[in-house]
Amino acid sequence: MKNNIYTEILLHESSEIIAIAEKVFRFERITPEEGLILFQKAELSLLGILANFVRETKHGDKTYFNRNFHIEPTNICIYNCKFCSYVRKINTEGAWEFSKEDILEKVKQYIGQPVTEVHIVGGVHPNRDLHYYGDILSEIKKILPNIHIKAFTAVELEFMIKKSKYSIEEGLKRLKEYGLDSIPGGGAEIFHPDIRSQVCDEKSSSENWLLIHETAHKVGLPSNATILYGHIENYSHRIDHLKKLRELQDKTGGFNTFIPLKFRKENNRLSHIEETSSVEDLKNYAVSRIFLDNFPHIKAYWPSIGKDIAQLSLSFGVDDIDGTIDDSTKIYSMAGAEDKNPKMTTEDLVLLIKEAKRVAVERDTVYNTVKIYN
Ligand code: SF4
Repeated sequence: MKNNIYTEILLHESSEIIAIAEKVFRFERITPEEGLILFQKAELSLLGILANFVRETKHGDKTYFNRNFHIEPTNICIYNCKFCSYVRKINTEGAWEFSKEDILEKVKQYIGQPVTEVHIVGGVHPNRDLHYYGDILSEIKKILPNIHIKAFTAVELEFMIKKSKYSIEEGLKRLKEYGLDSIPGGGAEIFHPDIRSQVCDEKSSSENWLLIHETAHKVGLPSNATILYGHIENYSHRIDHLKKLRELQDKTGGFNTFIPLKFRKENNRLSHIEETSSVEDLKNYAVSRIFLDNFPHIKAYWPSIGKDIAQLSLSFGVDDIDGTIDDSTKIYSMAGAEDKNPKMTTEDLVLLIKEAKRVAVERDTVYNTVKIYN
């Protein structure tokens, strides 16, 4: 029956699309050229079937989430990325920096709560080095000894490690000793130099982003990866980005999750660009799932995309919708995301997943199962 439906849908596609679809069903890796054809020519319905095939082969109906909260230590940043709505310069209106004490007070609110992860990212503060942040990590572990600390984009890491005069490997090892458990995927933006040079020319190069993640994997720190899509890039730039990530994952196997991040246009220097449609967002999840055959998970970060599209994405290759968040991040609400106070209870997340006819699985950061909600 299922095969008949696939055959019926494929009848409406061109021979080149059918050849790609057959490769996916045979578990063969598609080439960058084929990925580009999927972006350019495939119907969303077919992309959904292919991405769902990959997703269900890897995870069945399981859909992951976790109990987490964010800390954004500062929005002061030495860089000035054009798409960023969050950044402020030091001593200017709207700039903030939480003190160590402020941060630790926030952490203490979670004593006795069943959270498993704290996610820490922020601006690149000119005066803060590795030891400043390392001290915070070790104090967090004293307050919540079992919490997993996923902290600092490669861009923040590059700056703080250099400021403390370590090599990348030494710096990452030192942070691990302080309590760092893994690295989030931020700062990747878009790797292609033609686009990166236009939207974030000052900050870490794509080569350095990839090197920092490669080194993290080498020293035993798993990580995630992102793409910022929907601004001035085209499909070939997105495929270039996915190709570089797939190659690194072949080498290290250290990535857990790929997280497409939608460009939001409020309060930044690319506000004249229209945001992508929901169809485009779903297409992006689907092609990512099909192309990144060696990434275990694809995540829809619901504060960036909204709860409804996150729910729909579960039929377009996504198997993870991030976590409870607990109204602890401002990055996307400052950029115009619908949810100004992003927060979901465990019950909300489980309901969202169950409504999509999937099985909700609470996980820890590295995808150990905490609880299955049947
Ligand atoms: S995106 Fe990150 S690095 Fe770029 S300006 Fe904003 S906070 Fe700074």
